[in-house]
Amino acid sequence: MSAIAQNIEQIEKGLKQDTKLIAVTKTKPVELLLEAYKAGAKQFGENKVQEMTAKYEALPKDIVWHMIGHLQTNKVKYIAPFVSLIHSVDSPKLLKEINKEAKKNDRIINCLLQIYIAKEETKFGLSDAEAEEIILSKELSSFENVRIVGLMGMASNCDDHEKIRAEFRHLKNLFDSLKKHDGDRSQMLELSMGMSGDYGIAVEEGSTMVRVGSAIFGSR
Ligand SMILES: *Cc1c(COP(=O)(O)O)cnc(C)c1O
Repeated sequence: MSAIAQNIEQIEKGLKQDTKLIAVTKTKPVELLLEAYKAGAKQFGENKVQEMTAKYEALPKDIVWHMIGHLQTNKVKYIAPFVSLIHSVDSPKLLKEINKEAKKNDRIINCLLQIYIAKEETKFGLSDAEAEEIILSKELSSFENVRIVGLMGMASNCDDHEKIRAEFRHLKNLFDSLKKHDGDRSQMLELSMGMSGDYGIAVEEGSTMVRVGSAIFGSR
């Protein structure tokens, strides 16, 4: 059994039954992605459009692709034909562009709103109020080719477990409170939180999707 297969097995053991593992493959060569694929990983996360598109073209077509990095509006068109879930929607403008490109491809693209939860770090993301505003907006109800299916967040990059836990808990609370607005274009189904260093805490706090890179493929 390869080291990658062992890592995947080990991580899966620590997840709850319905928590999905997204293997974060950024910067790794396609040979290693294939190794993970052969070990059973079928959901891959990338943070750069060009890299994701190249890997999509090179690899088996039953792989499910997740965009997890900051996405520029002018690049949405390259991933719209095949991306399965965009975790990093951080503006109404981006959502509008995704809707436009999804329509051109005759698809509905599932999206998560990225929430800024790490208080002391400059990371992309929406405030709680901005997320609620998008979900309640008239504009969203007119977008027929996107669906908001949950939230994503990244905790502070630190060793303070209680702080990380509090950040995840905050995101879970927001997720639960936004459920009351569930409807046609927005439904709180997926909570994407947890990376190599903190997925254990994230799972305890209610994550449905963990995004794990270095714990599978080694450090970048
Ligand atoms: C790189 C990245 C990950 C994975 O990070 P690891 O610490 O290697 O597990 C998860 N989420 C996002 C948004 C990332 O950019």
